[in-house]
Amino acid sequence: AGSLQGGHSLSEPSARHYSSEPSLQATEENGFKGHSMLAPFTAGWQSTDVHPLVIERSEGSYVYDSNGKKYIDALAGLWCTALGGNEPRLVKAATEQLNKLPFYHSFWNRTTKPSLDLANDILSMFTAREMGKVFFTNSGSEANDSQVKLVWYYNNALGRPDKKKFIARSKSYHGSTLIAASLSGLPALHQKFDLPAPFVLHTDCPHYWRFRLPDETEEEFSTRLANNLENLVLKEGPETIAAFIAEPVMGAGGVILPPKTYFEKIQAVLKKYDILLIADEVITAFGRLGTMFGCDMYNIKPDLVSIAKALSSAYMPIGAILVSPEITDVIYSQSNKLGSFAHGFTYSGHPVSCAVAVETLKIYKERNIVEHVNKIAPRFQEGIKAFSGSPIVGEIRGLGLILGTEFVDNKSPNDPFPAEWGVGSIFGAECEKRGMLIRVAGDSIMLSPPLIMTPNEVEEIISKFGDALKATEERIVELK
Ligand code: PLP
Repeated sequence: AGSLQGGHSLSEPSARHYSSEPSLQATEENGFKGHSMLAPFTAGWQSTDVHPLVIERSEGSYVYDSNGKKYIDALAGLWCTALGGNEPRLVKAATEQLNKLPFYHSFWNRTTKPSLDLANDILSMFTAREMGKVFFTNSGSEANDSQVKLVWYYNNALGRPDKKKFIARSKSYHGSTLIAASLSGLPALHQKFDLPAPFVLHTDCPHYWRFRLPDETEEEFSTRLANNLENLVLKEGPETIAAFIAEPVMGAGGVILPPKTYFEKIQAVLKKYDILLIADEVITAFGRLGTMFGCDMYNIKPDLVSIAKALSSAYMPIGAILVSPEITDVIYSQSNKLGSFAHGFTYSGHPVSCAVAVETLKIYKERNIVEHVNKIAPRFQEGIKAFSGSPIVGEIRGLGLILGTEFVDNKSPNDPFPAEWGVGSIFGAECEKRGMLIRVAGDSIMLSPPLIMTPNEVEEIISKFGDALKATEERIVELK
């Protein structure tokens, strides 16, 4: 057995049965001195009953634990190490910047060249619509928190003090700070944290397989969801709704693709009631779906965009928001009146993070990362989807280099396995045993491998997935 890959569904006592095998983990013999860390997205028992899986080194699409065991990193860290584990150009970019200028800030019209260069590069790469400015953060959560403040500032400037509510979607993930967790639509992020904040409303998760009505087509499903959104806006009063936030493809909620015509219909509703659209591209930006941005894939014309993760291939922490020219103008005139736009972080536009991100974007362009993704994605998708017939698989869904699998009984979204069986955890443990790291959240599992994968590595993922699935099927026969 192997460790539960930290998930949002932490209330899974079943996972105890499939907890880490000490021989594979950090032990006193190999230098493990105890667990003093309050670990993110980790249950208490995991930090006390089992030793953590300590990852020590990475190379290409692989990571190695403290015992030297090799794993194919089928989640690219946390959906982020797009260029894999040892890109020397990123190390060089960081080292050069550290030697030249390890830090200077970007407050009060002082800044650094890497941050100016990066903002230009991001704007020139985002072509779904023209964007005006880029604001830097340290993470995706901070980006989404900043979006809310920026939208409030904008509506205050326009004399619309009541237009402050946000609509997000059930099952979305937008981060874990107070506001980002509020926007997220995952119960575990709210429970016992006194969230969501009262200005956040949630509308339908656009998961066709799970939530369609009998005989409803994808297009009809999208129409129904757009109508539900419109009804929510009317019920609350359009003058109170500031913005709608959506991931082009939902990531942590289980890799949920928008049904046909979804974004077209949702955008029409938003336009009708003058509601801003925020595209949370923290996972989808920079090639993940086979287009440079998720907005390109679904013809999304956002007012604001959040990015992070692959922006620096995760080698340094950095996030950013892209702001439309119209919103930028309003913010500029308001901050002129007030004397400043009083929002920012010490590390907004950190020069080392920006230098690494500049080099990352350069590599995406030079190596034509989108073309590479489109070359390997068909085999990745088709190879894993070939397991759709498994009696324990409900749905395998994905696009480009992102893929989710949901385990259910009788192939029906209405027949979950008993939670205490921990079917997703069994599968995760079987993958880990075979040297593959994935994401588990309840009975959904997710893959989001490095974009630089070779065809052989794609085959390795498919084969390990198949073997782990077979072992999981056998385990379920025993449990039944
Ligand atoms: N938005 C999306 C879509 C994400 O997937 C994530 C992280 O997984 C975040 C925001 C939060 O980013 P961070 O963990 O960098 O705060």
